[in-house]
Amino acid sequence: MPSCSKCKQPVDFQAVSCPHCNNPLKAFGHPGIPLYQSEDNTWLCDRCTYHLDDTCNFPQRPYAKSCTLFHDHSTPLIAEIDTPASRKGWAGIKNWLNRNQGLIAIAVLIVFSVLLAISSR
Ligand code: SF4
Ligand SMILES: [Zn+2]
Repeated sequence: MPSCSKCKQPVDFQAVSCPHCNNPLKAFGHPGIPLYQSEDNTWLCDRCTYHLDDTCNFPQRPYAKSCTLFHDHSTPLIAEIDTPASRKGWAGIKNWLNRNQGLIAIAVLIVFSVLLAISSR
């Protein structure tokens, strides 16, 4: 369960504001828009990916204490997607063959026709 950055009390994941100290937890009062807040009196920008790669053009940069777009530079921007076992190795080849049976049949027909034409000369 997340905790309030101001009073450190546990709060509901969907809470728009802290029920204990009324600190806003979501941006624009919308539960789907996270509002990142500095917890230790430091600036969020100091450890934000968009500050370090110089792509942020928010006016509060570099002194943001709360921000909707903050992304900690120590975590990857895009989570690694694990390839399912069905796409690896022999199972992957079998899946590909199953999905492309029509294409394989046409290729076999073409090869067979070419071999027939060559052998009948
Ligand atoms: S996105 Fe927010 S936290 Fe990140 S650099 Fe810009 S203002 Fe700072
Ligand atoms: Zn609070």
